[in-house]
Amino acid sequence: TSTILELRGISRSYAIRQGLLGRKVRFRAVDDVSLNVEEGRTLALVGESGSGKSTTGRVALGLEPPDDGTVRFRGAALPEIDSPAWRRIRTQMQMIFQDPLAALDRRLTILEQVREPLDIHDIGPTGEREAVALEMLNAVGLGTGHATNLPGQLSGGQRQRAVLARALVMRPALLVCDEPVSALDVSIQAQVVNLLMDIQDRMGLSLLFISHDLKVVRQISQRIAVMYLGRIVELGETQAVLSNPLHPYTKALVSAVPVPGRPTHARIVLEGEPPNPAARPSGCAFHPRCPLARSECASDIPQLTVRRDGGAVACHVVASGKVCA
Ligand code: SF4
Ligand code: MG
Repeated sequence: TSTILELRGISRSYAIRQGLLGRKVRFRAVDDVSLNVEEGRTLALVGESGSGKSTTGRVALGLEPPDDGTVRFRGAALPEIDSPAWRRIRTQMQMIFQDPLAALDRRLTILEQVREPLDIHDIGPTGEREAVALEMLNAVGLGTGHATNLPGQLSGGQRQRAVLARALVMRPALLVCDEPVSALDVSIQAQVVNLLMDIQDRMGLSLLFISHDLKVVRQISQRIAVMYLGRIVELGETQAVLSNPLHPYTKALVSAVPVPGRPTHARIVLEGEPPNPAARPSGCAFHPRCPLARSECASDIPQLTVRRDGGAVACHVVASGKVCA
């Protein structure tokens, strides 16, 4: 397989005000992240809120510039944001978000909104655009019956299908999905995930799939990258990482997902404060909550170390061989 999207050493920080009139402080949302998305395959980016997943997704699409590092799409560095070359590439990279209503215009019909990107980017003959948009509505299982509806007349699942049709009408090569099913009922989630996988097959799409839900990730992805406070802590084949997690944080995440036949007391409950990107602990940022932490963990940032199976883990204790890889 070849790589469609490559991130190398990406960092991105934001300035926030602490307190109501407080001074501005910068915090790092993403810190030295490197990853690859392979053509036609799915990489899942997993972590709690505040782990930097969404920022990584936006930087990957060139919606935000990184402070450091490079993004390559099919081997070429992303052009400067808003340049004509960037706009051309952007049509091949689309993004869908958690809240479909926010992505849709309440005053336009579904058909108008699915057609709109073709008009904006002047793609295909004008007279054929409506047919292309209708075809895409069919492809996402919405059917043409909803074409003249407004977003407010659709259910949450139908709206997300409409958003998907709007993204796919551009015939993108890469789709970044940021928690695309998290706001939907569990029964609808499975339908939308199956639809995404089906469309991926038919269109040869590559996916960067951002989610905190390991059940969904297990179903849709071949590879997984686990983030904690802006850094990737574990990376590898989804099957290997979920069945044999090595990083203490991944172990805790995986243990929280109920598995038939595994006793619930096997769940690892994390102590300490939930991660706050504005107050990133020194060294391994996970150390205040880590059951294995030792002194060097508070001072030295562990680097990703490649395992025998091609995965990688960023942990001093795992690297020292004190837990079995
Ligand atoms: Fe825990 Fe230390 Fe490994 Fe971080 S580096 S996960 S604190 S053992
Ligand atoms: Mg997010």
